[in-house]
Amino acid sequence: MEIKRRKTRIVKVGSVKIGGNNPIVIQSMAKTDTRNTTRTISEILKLEKSGCEIVRVAVKDLESARALRAIKERVSIPLVADIHFDYRLALESLESGADKIRINPGNIPKPVDLRQIIRAAGKRKIPIRIGINSGSLPYHIAHLGGDKRVAGLVSFARKYINFFEKEKFRDIIISIKSSSVYETVRSYRKLAAFCDYPFHVGVTAAGPYNTGIVKSSIGAGALLLDGIGDTIRVSLTGDPRDEVIAAKRILQSLDLRRFDPDIISCPTCGRCQVDLAGIVKQLEGALSHNPSLVTRDGSRITTIAVMGCEVNGPGEAREADVGVAFGRDSGTLFKKGKIVKRIKAKNAVRELLKYIRDFKL
Ligand code: SF4
Repeated sequence: MEIKRRKTRIVKVGSVKIGGNNPIVIQSMAKTDTRNTTRTISEILKLEKSGCEIVRVAVKDLESARALRAIKERVSIPLVADIHFDYRLALESLESGADKIRINPGNIPKPVDLRQIIRAAGKRKIPIRIGINSGSLPYHIAHLGGDKRVAGLVSFARKYINFFEKEKFRDIIISIKSSSVYETVRSYRKLAAFCDYPFHVGVTAAGPYNTGIVKSSIGAGALLLDGIGDTIRVSLTGDPRDEVIAAKRILQSLDLRRFDPDIISCPTCGRCQVDLAGIVKQLEGALSHNPSLVTRDGSRITTIAVMGCEVNGPGEAREADVGVAFGRDSGTLFKKGKIVKRIKAKNAVRELLKYIRDFKL
């Protein structure tokens, strides 16, 4: 299966290209007070390590905007200033070296203010994300329901895109998010017909971990399957590293990017005679903590099957690059469909890792 991606123009954010045929970029947002540069830098470094490729910080006052300077010196991924209400915060963030400005036109409504941001960003060749959000719509759109609200969101976005184009500013990335999965998906799909700007996709305020993962996977997943989406942010209430991991999982599930091998494991049932959950947990941990075993983006191993019994086990294990189908206390190890040997359940993780390490197509 290959997803045909929507044709979009390329916008550069620092050293990262968004749009065109470039890999779909993973973003997150620091949850610290930006004025506390020590904590913000530490959070961004952790995000970088987990695979975040662009990070946004909240710029709620001039002190936050000025703090970007110190933050930028210590982090390597591009830094986005999140601006609401006051255009002067965008100007100060640009002075401090922000790599992108995110504005929400819903709360910077005056053309004269927007024009100041556009001109300052244009002078420095810094892109702007127009982030339309269902939480800050004018009343005449916000109170509508269903498809009428979708139409309102789209016409609101188009109005601002036209404004930017009239100002001859095209270094823009668009998001048109709602906390409703339905509205989000419908809005992006509709807007995609009107422009070729790259889209930042995600469901806004998706909620706590479990709910947020489900809503984001359905919302972003539906769009990505349509070929819509050039950068993704999973928005969760909690550790932002979980947002990055979830975004990676969504992209990998759709074969849009590859970070590590997929583990195909059965849910187990009464037929299973080994501690399959324990084996899978150990294997997952070993893979995520041992990046030398797999290469990022283009790992040679794409699937590892770990199956609990001989019902579906041998079939799945045979299909995978490396697989094991367990019986009583031991299992049959397959490599590219061929039986390699029988292994003891207690040695399963060690044996699998050895075959992953030595794997050659
Ligand atoms: S593969 Fe075997 S153990 Fe796993 S769920 Fe299926 S029948 Fe149960």
